[in-house]
Amino acid sequence: PSAFTHEFNTPAFKGKVSFSTGLFINGQFLDGSDKTTIDVINPTNGKVITSVSEGTPKDVDLAVDAAHAAFDTTWGLHAPGAQRSILMSKLVAIMEKNADELAALEALDNGKTFNWARNVDVAGSIDCIRYYAGWADKVTGQVQETTEDKLTYTRHEPIGVVGQIIPWNFPLLMMAWKLGPALACGNTIVLKPSEFTPLTAIRMCHLINEAGFPPGVVNVISGYGNSVGNAISSHMRVEKVAFTGSTLVGRKIMEAAAKSNLKNVTLELGGKSPNIIFDDADIEQAVNWAAFGIFWNHGQTCCAGSRIYVQEGIYDEFLKRFTEKTRSLKVGDPFAPDTFQGPQVSEIQFNRIMSYIESGKAAGAKVEIGGERHGSEGYFIKPTIFTNVDPSMKIVQEEIFGPVGVVIKFKDEEDVIKQANDTVYGLAAAVFTQNLNRAINTAHKLKAGTAWINCVNSLHSNVPFGGFKQSGIGRELGEYALANYTAVKSVHVNLGHRM
Ligand code: NAD
Repeated sequence: PSAFTHEFNTPAFKGKVSFSTGLFINGQFLDGSDKTTIDVINPTNGKVITSVSEGTPKDVDLAVDAAHAAFDTTWGLHAPGAQRSILMSKLVAIMEKNADELAALEALDNGKTFNWARNVDVAGSIDCIRYYAGWADKVTGQVQETTEDKLTYTRHEPIGVVGQIIPWNFPLLMMAWKLGPALACGNTIVLKPSEFTPLTAIRMCHLINEAGFPPGVVNVISGYGNSVGNAISSHMRVEKVAFTGSTLVGRKIMEAAAKSNLKNVTLELGGKSPNIIFDDADIEQAVNWAAFGIFWNHGQTCCAGSRIYVQEGIYDEFLKRFTEKTRSLKVGDPFAPDTFQGPQVSEIQFNRIMSYIESGKAAGAKVEIGGERHGSEGYFIKPTIFTNVDPSMKIVQEEIFGPVGVVIKFKDEEDVIKQANDTVYGLAAAVFTQNLNRAINTAHKLKAGTAWINCVNSLHSNVPFGGFKQSGIGRELGEYALANYTAVKSVHVNLGHRM
């Protein structure tokens, strides 16, 4: 199969990196069955970095076969939790050893900065696998007291072969969120990374082999959504599919699951998260967090605080400071130490975001800052703030998934909660105030899976994350995610009741 070879010579990371970019099936790196490849593009300049093998539905079949064989022999009920935990801990140690390289790959492939990749994506992925390694020997059922002549208990068995389909915005982190609980519970996996950012997922396969996982426990098939993704979600021998991506594709996954074997589905989808700033907020902190909320990861964050509601008493002052803060965010080379924001991931996303910006301008919204591309090469977009918007505008309703926020003035609590909840999404929400009662009351009234008080984009491996409404089904992270990967069996033992 094709291989990736690159000499990194950046302030953050130097060294030669080289590995096979084949499909990972049964512990081996293979060509796709059509022998075709997918070009991986560097978003800073639009040039090809390397190519990776392209999978097909036939390759998904091979991967599912390998995953079933592993489930029936070396994993599943054949590998005690303690053994799974040890292997996962080995993987953690190997990831730690390769952390800088993984961060450099992520920065090159996705365009996010090396520093954020290292400190959030890679560090968070390591933490997530470490956290679930701790669960692997603690996944247990319960004993139910029924009658004295019966012993009744539950087993939390692994589901079997699970499909996992992930997006490009946090390629490694989304892989870790999927692998961690699935492996801890004893499932075997067929995973598809995004066709835009396959490199860290493929590199992880090499690390998984190095850790000594039995072949077939993890299989990774690079490829496109409508072929490989669809083959996974409609496969008759895949018992569960976990998906992170757009709401549009989430619907297709559910439909494919329903039309095939009614596989269990969990979805982590999009958002249009409100960020509410009351008059009594610490304004400097609110400004800093609001900028982080919408501009971090170039706005390509499912929980991005893209609708910023500011109470009328501090609106002018907030907007002035927020605009200044936005002006100070450095856009440029992801490997430069002082860069905050790199390029958007792809030309498609760049064009999509620019068309939202144009739609905002055409609808009469005011560009406070930004509103255009940055430079002339690559997919960079200036951090953009719109004001003068009304709730019917596309830039207020739809997920832009780019560095574009809207700032909206509000009067009182009742008014802002109504506006904040006026969306089909419900992934996250934030509130800034020094008043404890107001903070908690507002957090409780917001229809969202995560409510942040005086912070945003805060995540921990042990705290569940997921959406209300059309932002998804099920929760990732924390103990809650174990339920996605276990099948509960009730066992009734007759201790002497005679018929
Ligand atoms: P996407 O839905 O276009 O693609 C996600 C994945 O699905 C990719 O691997 C893609 O190849 C695959 N896919 C596409 N069509 C498919 C099909 N018909 N069948 C099966 N698989 C298919 O999303 P994206 O553009 O990669 O990512 C951006 C979206 O992801 C945003 O909407 C964002 O909000 C969401 N997201 C959500 C979370 C969360 O946790 N809620 C996290 C990250 C991203």
